[in-house]
Amino acid sequence: MQIKKRDLTFLGILRVIFKTAWIKFKWKVIVMFVCALFVAILETVAPKIVQLIIDNLEKLANPTNLEIRLYIILLTSLFGVGIAMTLFRFWVNRLSFFIATQVEDYWRYRVLNHFFNLPTIWHDKHDSGEFAGKIDRGASSIWTIIHELFGNNFLVYLITLIIVLIIAFISFPGAALILIIPIPIYVIVTFIVSQKIAKRQNFVNKIHHFASRLLYDAAGNVRSVKAFGTESRESKNYKKVWAKIHHLEYKEEELWLVQSLMQTGIETLMRIILLTFSIWKFYKNEYTIGLIVLLISYQQLTFAPLRELNSIFTRIRRVVGRSKHLFEILSEDDSLKDSRNAIDLKELRNKIVFDKVNFSYSKNYQALKDITVDFKKGEVVAIVGRSGAGKSTFSNLLLRFYDPDKGKVLWDGIDLRNARRASLRKRIAYIPQDINLFNRSIKDNITYGRLKFKEKEVIFAAKLAAAHEFISKMPKGYKSVIGERGIRLSGGQRQRIGIARAIFTGASVIIMDESTSHLDSESEQAIQEAIKSIHGDKTLVIIAHRLSTILNADKIIVMDQGKIIAEGRHKNLLKSCSIYKRLYDLQVRKEKNR
Ligand code: ADP
Repeated sequence: MQIKKRDLTFLGILRVIFKTAWIKFKWKVIVMFVCALFVAILETVAPKIVQLIIDNLEKLANPTNLEIRLYIILLTSLFGVGIAMTLFRFWVNRLSFFIATQVEDYWRYRVLNHFFNLPTIWHDKHDSGEFAGKIDRGASSIWTIIHELFGNNFLVYLITLIIVLIIAFISFPGAALILIIPIPIYVIVTFIVSQKIAKRQNFVNKIHHFASRLLYDAAGNVRSVKAFGTESRESKNYKKVWAKIHHLEYKEEELWLVQSLMQTGIETLMRIILLTFSIWKFYKNEYTIGLIVLLISYQQLTFAPLRELNSIFTRIRRVVGRSKHLFEILSEDDSLKDSRNAIDLKELRNKIVFDKVNFSYSKNYQALKDITVDFKKGEVVAIVGRSGAGKSTFSNLLLRFYDPDKGKVLWDGIDLRNARRASLRKRIAYIPQDINLFNRSIKDNITYGRLKFKEKEVIFAAKLAAAHEFISKMPKGYKSVIGERGIRLSGGQRQRIGIARAIFTGASVIIMDESTSHLDSESEQAIQEAIKSIHGDKTLVIIAHRLSTILNADKIIVMDQGKIIAEGRHKNLLKSCSIYKRLYDLQVRKEKNR
């Protein structure tokens, strides 16, 4: 089911949720409704039995055998009705619980999957803490909506109300009018108050997201928090936000009180009216005492769903806001989605070409300006330049994290816009500046890009990345779990795991984004040689600050302010490009001072 922005209304969201339940669990929904119908019928039967008993009380003073038998049958039926009602009610709740959890899970995973597929530009603008909050609260709100409406007896109450009204209109139309009067009043009151509550709740939801963001941001940067001694400041900030949330929730409670008072007022008034009306009828000999008891019971049965409707409707209005935030993520366009005719990229045979590429992350600043360059198969190409020159943006476009605003990136002549993303990512191994490692074992991290492998392949990749030695020295070797983002490893070790992971994929193009920056000279040398030897026919793009790693590159591209200002081999550039020379001199000086 596709979610469009226009579906994100109160009714639109309910429609999406119930449609999912219907499409996925048609038979369960039907059985649940049938069970609810049985409960509702039995609910109206029980007072009818009581009425029969009361109206025949006089006969029980001197009962005949038949009357005693009938009395026992009535009492047994009353007992049977109670038991059957409980069983059917249990099944309504059980089915509703099942459907609610399944629909919740369905949307939870769909949103998560969509989240991973959204373009990087979206991720740049949203943070993970907020997303985690949205997915948790949004998914549980779906559960609440379904279970509140289907389970928790509401469905049963509602069907009971309908049956009671039908019976009442057929059997005693005068009293039926009194039963029906509170319904529109209830609905109007509920609608007005719930709208107010929902408005406040929307505001509370926004602060909730802010609280999640704050928490994840602080918890994720716990080392910085400690290093700057801001533990209590962070906790206090969090406490303040929650205090605000609770303050708003207390205000909301006041609205609930208003609603309850109105409800009790209407109920009491209608009880008085029904009682007076029935007594009047009794003295006119039109109603029996049994019938009056029946009417009071039926009035009770009509109040139950109305009372529930009140609180359920308000609660649902509150939580629909949370589902909306969840569905908003789904309604975000995957602007880089594979087109229908997208083709699978084959191994690089010839070259990758950047053809007059222009790109901006935001309106104010152009990160790449009219870039035309090629990366031939088997070449080692280095991209150098000052920080912010646009080097990493190259890899972002090459991996199609973004599309160029103008121009094309071509893979053997195929525009990346026409290629399947998965096939592109399979052909390129990317070693980012900040290696993102998972809090899993070293082996799981190295083999992340591929499901099927042999043990020796893992060791082979680790050896090439000069990582095998330090891994072997760890107490649990390849099974060592390395902590959140690899925190239990040094910077250089993290880099080497990242490189092993890239080598392990066997991709034909490797992009190293300053990935040797944490390495000591010895392992850097080892890695350079290893990569060259196994990737003799593979293309290597090195985005580097440390020029020592790229002196032998086949081509060095010098970037400045989003433009290519020079291109060539090291020796030529030293003579022809002043910026390159300056970068190199700085580097040599730095190396000497080490
Ligand atoms: P380099 O790798 O040479 O240091 P980048 O390619 O990372 O430079 O960045 C080029 C320019 O684009 C810089 O001005 C940087 O601030 C900006 N930039 C990089 N990434 C983003 C982003 N995700 N959103 C907005 N601007 C960005």
